[in-house]
Amino acid sequence: MSKVKYYYDPESLSYRKIERKKRKTFAYISVFLLAAFLFSFIIFSIANLYIESPKEKALKRELQNMQLQFGLLNKKMNEAEAVLANVADRDNNIYRVYFEANPIPDEQRKAGFGGINRYKNLEGFDNSELIIETNKRLDILQKQIVVQSKSLDEITVLAEEKEKLLTAIPAIQPVKNEDLTRMASGYGMRTDPFTKVKKMHWGMDFSAQKGTPIYAPGDGIVKRADARSSGYGKHIRIDHGFGYVSLYAHLHKYNVKKNQRVKRGDVIGYVGNTGRSMGPHLHYEIFKDGKRINPINFYYGSLTAEEFSKLLEHASLENQSLD
Ligand SMILES: [Zn+2]
Repeated sequence: MSKVKYYYDPESLSYRKIERKKRKTFAYISVFLLAAFLFSFIIFSIANLYIESPKEKALKRELQNMQLQFGLLNKKMNEAEAVLANVADRDNNIYRVYFEANPIPDEQRKAGFGGINRYKNLEGFDNSELIIETNKRLDILQKQIVVQSKSLDEITVLAEEKEKLLTAIPAIQPVKNEDLTRMASGYGMRTDPFTKVKKMHWGMDFSAQKGTPIYAPGDGIVKRADARSSGYGKHIRIDHGFGYVSLYAHLHKYNVKKNQRVKRGDVIGYVGNTGRSMGPHLHYEIFKDGKRINPINFYYGSLTAEEFSKLLEHASLENQSLD
């Protein structure tokens, strides 16, 4: 406050107050208020910087809790990633190998998302890095699960096919294995029993008495049961699917008809001596994709390792075939 000033009034012979002009007074007040405001603003700002309000304290605690929770989430993701990695490993190295599917490359399983920045809306915060990293991991995990799930679907289909294949392809001997010496001649160059000339023998001959039952070595459909194929006499052909066809020649009698569906182990006919044959025997051939292959590899369902090596020995003798 400025001092009150007086002046001497010669007319009234007294001291009188000097009245300031109103405008000046207003200016003084304004300056005072402005200064007061600025001062309090500075004090408030400083206080705000160094002193936390209860609300701020609560928010800070909440934030710390969030960070802790994110940390725990990341730990859980570690576990999920480890489990999924193990499943992927088994998938690639066991299931896909067993079912002859190519392994899924790691880059494909763990691929992130290219192109646009999916995490732009998460940028610019104090915890952006933590939140973005966590999001990325979850996204990759999610994608991995989708890839894995698709892979297992594929494996399921392959397994079903494999099961069909295993029941379809020839896997047992077409005549019973009571005496392996029944295997009279194998696949390969053999002496023709009629001309005595060496020529290719395209199947295996099992000598057996006339009327001995012949069994279907795998599931399939009878494509032929007739004597219209030169030299084979009464013969049967079974289509097993997957490119496999089996053929039985010189039969005495049929037990199936054309287009009949047969199961492994069904009696399809009986051993005979029809067609170009030296004596009662079964001539057995296997075709794969139209080519005749060695039937020796199609008995694994009925033979022990020892029996198989004995059969192999018999089958490789370059003897005379029964045709
Ligand atoms: Zn033969």
